[in-house]
Amino acid sequence: MRIILLGAPGAGKGTQAATLHEHLNAPHIATGDLFRAALSQGTPLGLEAKSYMDRGELVPDDVTVRMLLERISQPDAADGYILDGFPRSLAQAEALDEALKSHNETVDKVLLVDVSEDELVRRLSGRWICRACQTPYHAVSNPPKTEGMCDADGGELYQRDDDKPETVRNRLGVYRDQTAPLIDYYTAQEILTSINGEQEIDVVRADLLAAIN
Ligand code: ADP
Ligand code: AMP
Repeated sequence: MRIILLGAPGAGKGTQAATLHEHLNAPHIATGDLFRAALSQGTPLGLEAKSYMDRGELVPDDVTVRMLLERISQPDAADGYILDGFPRSLAQAEALDEALKSHNETVDKVLLVDVSEDELVRRLSGRWICRACQTPYHAVSNPPKTEGMCDADGGELYQRDDDKPETVRNRLGVYRDQTAPLIDYYTAQEILTSINGEQEIDVVRADLLAAIN
């Protein structure tokens, strides 16, 4: 199954994908994670993406689409995947549809995780992420068992530079202007289900599973 988790930064896409991918036995592909991995390896792609990420802007579509199409062409994605953070513009959505069409494939479901801006700001300002496996935690609403340490693999938790308030404001503006139009795009394709993301993590997960099944 090819699933897109759509939602603003901080909506809980990564949190939900971490368990959904086990349930569906499909890889969790997050373009933000791919860019951060490229950056930590110092590749040309990572260095190109860095200035956009630092400002909270979108990395140009051509670079992003190329990276994503290369990732979904790998064997572990042959039977499907969960996309998180892609597409983020109409051009990216159209490029994905085109690429899938050439293999007689389509996106099966788009799940919109809907959260108000006040809550997004609260979540991003308290977010901590595992340096090793990228699992997100929240200082108040989803803390790790041991402070500063990932429950899954003991990795060190850190706060992303782009989660600071100025950059968050910019990222939410970018979401409103460039990504939110995808709600209409996928509604027109009759594959979008909206989920109330402002519930307990387990309740959001149950709603997502109900929408998938
Ligand atoms: P995204 O991947 O959409 O940017 P994350 O999954 O990283 O969002 O979640 C953002 C922050 O909100 C994290 O700190 C996470 O622990 C927290 N969070 C995620 N889902 C919920 C929820 N349902 N209720 C409260 N906090 C949540
Ligand atoms: P995320 O981890 O999803 O919050 O993404 C972090 C940053 O990576 C974003 O603010 C963008 O700069 C960049 N990025 C991630 N995904 C995309 C995408 N699909 N298109 C353009 N830029 C992206």
